[in-house]
Amino acid sequence: MKSKLLFSLGALVLIAIVGYGIYDHRHLRQENLLLGENMKAASTSLAELENRNVVLEGQLQSAEDTLTSFGAQVSDLTGTVGTLKKLSETDQELLKKYSKVYFLNENYIPSGLSEIDQKYVYTKGKVLEIHTKVKPHLESLIDAANSTGLNLLVISAYRSFGTQSSLKSSYKVTYGAGTANSFSADQGYSEHQLGTAVDFTTPKVGDTFSGFSKAPEYQWLVNNAYRYGFILSYPEGNTYYTFEPWHWRFVGTALALMLHNENRRFYDLDQREIDKYLVTIFD
Ligand SMILES: [Zn+2]
Repeated sequence: MKSKLLFSLGALVLIAIVGYGIYDHRHLRQENLLLGENMKAASTSLAELENRNVVLEGQLQSAEDTLTSFGAQVSDLTGTVGTLKKLSETDQELLKKYSKVYFLNENYIPSGLSEIDQKYVYTKGKVLEIHTKVKPHLESLIDAANSTGLNLLVISAYRSFGTQSSLKSSYKVTYGAGTANSFSADQGYSEHQLGTAVDFTTPKVGDTFSGFSKAPEYQWLVNNAYRYGFILSYPEGNTYYTFEPWHWRFVGTALALMLHNENRRFYDLDQREIDKYLVTIFD
């Protein structure tokens, strides 16, 4: 009797436990499902947030790109304005090609002239002037040449329109009648009036210029003058003027370098091609 009661009680307890277990399992499953849904919702929100972040980053980048491009445009514009201003202040004649039919106006005077140091002058005591901005380039060139044991000197530099007449006799050049014709005989004259051309010599060659093309100083100039912005205006075998190995013109280092590297001649270039170098002539 007692054992029957105990069994019934045991069965009842077991049923209760199983019942609770089933209930608890269901409850847990529901909670689990709910949690799963919540997590799903949360990860969806996260993905949405990430998407929005990507979009925002994209917008930010595009805004930054716009700013950068705008900045570059402003900088370009500033550069262009600077270049135009510099160009407007640069003497247009400095890189002109002169010929027997196109020469410098007789009233032309360089913007600034400076005396060449006497140690570079062939005729001691004679005042020789050169374009002020060309002077440091010329002196660097002569210093470089003479530091190698050579003896390069300047015999002629800037010549005003007026001084040309007194040189006529000393150069023993026969001129025709009339102002224009008389000066067209010396094509290099315009370059001297510009203040950017010089005639070189050596103590050995002297003031006759003959033999300068055989002097080591001439060879040095052929190999190195471009580094200082100087070029030979009238090279050997040119079709526009007689060979003048002593006559060198300053055209700026960029143009001189291009002519040297490409083995071209100043007077063979198109004037428009030359003019591109005008703005940087004294750089
Ligand atoms: Zn000359």
